[in-house]
Amino acid sequence: MLSTVPPLAVSLYGLGNGRSRDARWPPHRLREPAERGCQRGDFRRLIRVGGPPRSDNAVIGDPPTKPDLEAAGVEYLYMALNEAISVAQGEEFFIGIPGDPEAEEEVDLVKEYWVSTRRQLAKSASLLQMGTELLLKSRVAEVSPYLLLDSVSSWPKAASKADCNWDDFRTIDARLLPQVINTVGQSRLADEFIATLDRIRKRRNAIVHSASEKAVPTCEEIVHDVLEVAHNLIGTHCWPALHRAQAWAPPFSRVDYHDQITVELLDDFSFLLDSLRPADVRKYLGISKKQRRYLCPSCRLGDLPAEARIKVAVLQPNRASSTTLFCIACGDLHSIRRKQCADCPGNVVDDDGCCLSCAEYLS
Ligand SMILES: [Zn+2]
Ligand SMILES: [Zn+2]
Repeated sequence: MLSTVPPLAVSLYGLGNGRSRDARWPPHRLREPAERGCQRGDFRRLIRVGGPPRSDNAVIGDPPTKPDLEAAGVEYLYMALNEAISVAQGEEFFIGIPGDPEAEEEVDLVKEYWVSTRRQLAKSASLLQMGTELLLKSRVAEVSPYLLLDSVSSWPKAASKADCNWDDFRTIDARLLPQVINTVGQSRLADEFIATLDRIRKRRNAIVHSASEKAVPTCEEIVHDVLEVAHNLIGTHCWPALHRAQAWAPPFSRVDYHDQITVELLDDFSFLLDSLRPADVRKYLGISKKQRRYLCPSCRLGDLPAEARIKVAVLQPNRASSTTLFCIACGDLHSIRRKQCADCPGNVVDDDGCCLSCAEYLS
C-alpha cells in the first residue's frame, strides 16, 4: 500500500474514477501522487460505496480475483510467446529452397514467408497486450477489485436497487492501470517498465484499430516483451516454471503417450537460450548462456526423435568438480558422475553410463 489509505478502507471506499481528465482522481493537490505517499484526505472524492464487503456478494456478483486474473494473464503471455517461437522456427523450412521455377520473376521464399506470417505476429502482439492488461489488473485486484471499476456515472443504474454482475460494469481504461498501481498498489512499477507497457498497448491498438502493418513486431520483440512483462509483474526468473506449467496443463498432458510435451519444452528452451542475448538469458531464465550445455538424464529417456535430443541442462554450480545438472526443460536437478568418455572430450555421465555430451554409452 503506497498511500496511507489503509487496505480495508480501499475495499470500503471508491476513489472516484481513474480518468486523468477527471481532476478528482488522482488527488487534486498532488501532481504526481504515484511518486510519493499521499493521505486519505488528498482524495477529494472518497465515497463510501456500500460498507464492508458482504460475504454473499450481494452488491456486485463475481468480482475478479488476483489469482484468476494472474492465471489468465500468464496463459495469454504463453500463447503470445508460443506463436512467436513457432513463426520464428517456421523460417527454417524455406531457407535454401530455390523459388518457384515456373514463376516469371525470381521468388524469394524466405521473404514471402515473413510477409505471410505478419497476421500471426499481429495476433501474438494482441495476445501479449491481453495478458499484460490482465496481469496489471491482478495487481490492482490484490488491493481491491473495486478499484478497477470505471466512473460512478457509468455504473448501471439498476445496481443501486438490485444485485448486479461484475460484467455489467465498465472497467477503467488500460492506460490508467500503471497509475492506479503506483498510487494504491503494494509496490510501484519502474518508469522504464511503464514506458514498455505504453509501447505494448499502443502497438496492439495500431494493429487492431487500423490494421497497421508497420506496427507488427518481430518474433524477437514479442519474446523479449513477454519475458519483460513476466519479470516485472510476476517475479524474477519466473518464466521457466510458468512455461513448463503451461505446457503440462491438461488435457494434452494426460494423453501425451509419446513425450511430445518434453520435445516441445526442449525445443522452446533451446530456442530461448540460442536467440536471447546473454544478459537476457541471465535476467529472464536465471542461467548463464555461456555455460556448456548437456543432455538431461531424464528428458533424454523420453520417446524422442534423435533430432529432439537437445542439450538444455547446465552444471550447478558451474565447476569442473560439480556433480549436479539443472535442466531448464524439466526444472529438476539431476546427479551425474564424472567419467571420461571415449568418444568425445566430455566427462559428464548419467547413472546409466550415457555420456551427456555425445549420447554414447561408456563401455
Ligand atoms: Zn530435463
Ligand atoms: Zn561423449
